[in-house]
Amino acid sequence: MGTVVQAAVLRSVGGPLAVEQVELPEPGPGQVRVRLAATGVCHSDLSLARGTLAQPVPAVLGHEGAGTVAAVGEGVAGLAAGDPVVLNWTPPCRTCWFCLQGEPYLCERAGDAAQRPYGRLRDGTPVHPGLGVGAFATETVVGANACIRLPADVPLVEAALLGCAVLTGVGAVRNAARVRPGQSVVVIGLGGVGLAAVQGARIAGADPIVAVELASDKADLARRLGATHVLAPSADLGKRIRALTGGRGADHAIECVGRAETIRSAWSVTRRGGRATVVGLGSRTDTLTFNALELTHFARTLAGCMYGDSDPTADVPVLLDHYHNRRLDLRALVTDEITLDDVEDAFARLAAGRGARSVIRFQPDR
Ligand SMILES: [Zn+2]
Ligand SMILES: [Zn+2]
Repeated sequence: MGTVVQAAVLRSVGGPLAVEQVELPEPGPGQVRVRLAATGVCHSDLSLARGTLAQPVPAVLGHEGAGTVAAVGEGVAGLAAGDPVVLNWTPPCRTCWFCLQGEPYLCERAGDAAQRPYGRLRDGTPVHPGLGVGAFATETVVGANACIRLPADVPLVEAALLGCAVLTGVGAVRNAARVRPGQSVVVIGLGGVGLAAVQGARIAGADPIVAVELASDKADLARRLGATHVLAPSADLGKRIRALTGGRGADHAIECVGRAETIRSAWSVTRRGGRATVVGLGSRTDTLTFNALELTHFARTLAGCMYGDSDPTADVPVLLDHYHNRRLDLRALVTDEITLDDVEDAFARLAAGRGARSVIRFQPDR
């Protein structure tokens, strides 16, 4: 006997999401059933739906979720029905080489759950959980290691954003770039991740914090969250940023778009010896080139970053401390509250660069 839930199902890559019933089994050993309260719509969901990132189908996407534990399987310790949790889409095994190396965001087994069907459509077809989470649904079943307990006082619609955008954006600044007080930071792209990176830069004590974004409607929001300057992309962007950074270029650039053109910009606006951190997930067909001289001449670091190089178990409590002390504004990142039927509209906003995060709200009371 399983549980029948409502889910936005992707039947074929490139096709639309449609809300239908999915039957989930009772949680097995080490698993937990979570009743979602809220799920953010992330650009990676759009990439999975459109085939830029690989996704077995049919699938229930959605990986930025928060909710309450509905049932626990055998052998699950530390979680009980009713506990509020945020979901981790890279649940670490804690035993592989990467985990033991202190790099749980690169865990060899973190992607396993996404490859296995976790439930069935009404006609019996096995269905996969997108990124192992399947949070575009009223409930999901995940490993207990994908659940991070939350205090009772955090609204789950805000807590959901911790699960991807905020761990990724703040983590890129804190864990990957390791920005120090007084350093200059440029953030390129102001979606949910970019706006979280701006806040991360403010928390780190960066100055100036220059946000680069095409959509002018996000300038006020970026300033409110910590940007000291907001610039539109332009051919002379490097010159304008050098003018703000003693003629040198920025100590750090954080690229939150995932396109060759913006990665190139992040590289170009960084000072000699500076660091460009690439957070945006791009496509394998979008390539960029470097001439052989500039790599040594500029002595910059260009580094990728996965999930903000975070260990959510350790980093979520740190983020919650910033939240409780009003250094981290989660509410401001939620620009659209939607229902499960409206994920396609949220995808359209993401593709057009409108708004920060659209968040599906399943339980209006929390
Ligand atoms: Zn995401
Ligand atoms: Zn591992």
